[in-house]
Amino acid sequence: MSKIRIGIAGYGNLGKGVEMAIRQNDDMELVCVFTRRDPASVSIKTPGVEVVSMDDMASMKDKIDVVILCGGSATDLPEQTPAVAKYFPVIDSFDTHANIPVHFANVDKVCKENGTIAMISVGWDPGMFSLNRIYAESILRQGSTYTFWGKGVSQGHSDAIRRIKGVKNAIQYTVPVEAALEAVRNCENPELTTRQKHTRECYVVAEEGADKAAIEAEIVNMPNYFSDYDTTVTFMEEDEFKATHNKMPHGGFVMRSGVTGAGTNQMIEYSLKLGSNPEFTACVLVAYARAAARMVAEGQTGARTVFDVAPSYLSPLSGEELRAHLL
Ligand code: NDP
Repeated sequence: MSKIRIGIAGYGNLGKGVEMAIRQNDDMELVCVFTRRDPASVSIKTPGVEVVSMDDMASMKDKIDVVILCGGSATDLPEQTPAVAKYFPVIDSFDTHANIPVHFANVDKVCKENGTIAMISVGWDPGMFSLNRIYAESILRQGSTYTFWGKGVSQGHSDAIRRIKGVKNAIQYTVPVEAALEAVRNCENPELTTRQKHTRECYVVAEEGADKAAIEAEIVNMPNYFSDYDTTVTFMEEDEFKATHNKMPHGGFVMRSGVTGAGTNQMIEYSLKLGSNPEFTACVLVAYARAAARMVAEGQTGARTVFDVAPSYLSPLSGEELRAHLL
């Protein structure tokens, strides 16, 4: 069988992760990487694969089966996903939860007009966590669902600290509160405030002579980002920071505790402990690219989310193999 031909659009952390993930899937091949930058300035890891300007994407129409979009959710994907879906089946990892319905509608319209398919908001949250929420809530109809994130790096919160005057570098980890996890696991159905669910750990390199007390006060009192949380700030030297905070771990928990039958407690828990958020997200995107290629072959068009894809479409194994080994 011929391989699924993949294009990557955007070569940041996620784009690099997708490049590596494709190598772990024998039924796929990377055809090219698209970028908005000068293609000559972007060097990729796969020999023989072209880097092409995003402006020339349409010229690759017959050479690619699925484009995996790896731009940022804040400003790239709202424009890129509908634009690229005019020409190609696409997958994106759009993770601004509140704007998913609008993004879906925009992309769906383009797909239907152009006869393409798009899978939006694929990854782990949204993505694998969403799947676990829908399974849990469909099965345990009476109960409470909880999502905890971390321990993991929040890029948005890290950026917010880096913008403070006197900060040279910074990283922020979101950490679930152990007591809250335990209360949920014990089926206590706690009502948890923002502060009771997560703490925020900040590691900061200050500029020479900067007022550290002022920086700390600005961080812990920052509205929306930190003021609603118990936040700790640790200052360190640049060398130590670079040696100890150079990874992008993340993960978390989706939990639902419910009651069935004669008042019997039931508990569902799914957790992820990710050494690298972009590398893992990339693996999810690649599995959904396989599903997209299959759905295109069936003549499907329009926007989809993880809720709309049958699990067997994700696997390279045949139905017979799946029934024999994984059922
Ligand atoms: P990056 O900031 O690393 O990359 C985003 C884009 O920026 C790239 O596509 C690239 O576009 C451009 N870029 C990257 N490096 C450079 C550079 N050195 N100079 C100039 N431009 C550069 O973001 P990530 O890859 O880490 O994340 C992308 C998105 O993935 C996030 O915004 C997040 O929303 C989403 N995500 C979703 C998850 C989920 O579970 N659903 C989980 C994790 C992430 P170009 O090549 O065109 O210049």
